Amino acid sequence: MPVGTVPKPAVLPLRGGLLDAAVRVHPILTGEIHAPPAHTDRPSGRLAGARVAAQLLSSRGNWNWLPVPAFLVEHPQAGAVLIDTGFHPTCAIDAGANLGRAGRLLYQLRMEPEQALRTQLPARGVELRDVRLVVMTHLHFDHASAVSEFPGATFVVDRHEWAAASNGGLRRGYHAQQFDHAFDWRTLDFEGENVRSFSGFARSLDLLGDGSVRVVSTRGHTVGHQSVILRTRHGEVLVLGDAAYTQAELGGRARPLVVQDEHLRRRSLQEIARYRAQTPDALVIPSHDGELFPQLSGFYE
Ligand SMILES: [Zn+2]
Repeated sequence: MPVGTVPKPAVLPLRGGLLDAAVRVHPILTGEIHAPPAHTDRPSGRLAGARVAAQLLSSRGNWNWLPVPAFLVEHPQAGAVLIDTGFHPTCAIDAGANLGRAGRLLYQLRMEPEQALRTQLPARGVELRDVRLVVMTHLHFDHASAVSEFPGATFVVDRHEWAAASNGGLRRGYHAQQFDHAFDWRTLDFEGENVRSFSGFARSLDLLGDGSVRVVSTRGHTVGHQSVILRTRHGEVLVLGDAAYTQAELGGRARPLVVQDEHLRRRSLQEIARYRAQTPDALVIPSHDGELFPQLSGFYE
């Protein structure tokens, strides 16, 4: 089913930039998703397919609960910015209401009602309506689930991602009802004139024009995936999204099961490695690392 929403190109910089601004970053756990080990670490070798099938058919006893995060970014002038939306509050009661019937069958979620952003943002002094800007790393169902909670916000997404998600369907990880709202959707063009290289990344866009929130193109996991580099007072935070699920994947020791473009994923990982070599003090956060996420601080500034 084609989507009804027509996004407009983003005009950069967006409003709210401030010279030398530094942001505060809050990693927020909105719930977890149950996945077989192969989801984050694909078996290789002759019997790989059989091992994946065995895991999918197993009793789920050795499956992993993977964090599903969102990130609150507080900017001194632009206010509250969100990176991804995590799970919608209804997922705590009935995943099918938000993910659709196929989603309910395919995915098992774990979410407490108080993990919803409508509870977790006010606990950090931010109301839902205060969020004016949402950067979507991509539009997979576990990142776009709570888009409808922010009708007054501007959403930015890579133009290739919007096109892929609009035609993708749940088989490719998208559920259009989550994002097909007549909100202020804006597309980023990494082939456009504002694009610059930045610290190892070939393509970056400076969203507010002050260097505090930079979006970098990290295609591969999906065809329009993007990550976000944030400047805090004490250094940089790179929110990877699904450019890598885990630290093992970042280190080349694991490969995810589902990838839309393996060549682009590897190129993105190379750019991330270059960034880390040039910015060794940066905190780099993959989306779905169940060991790393509980070790993160409440916020970074
Ligand atoms: Zn994804």
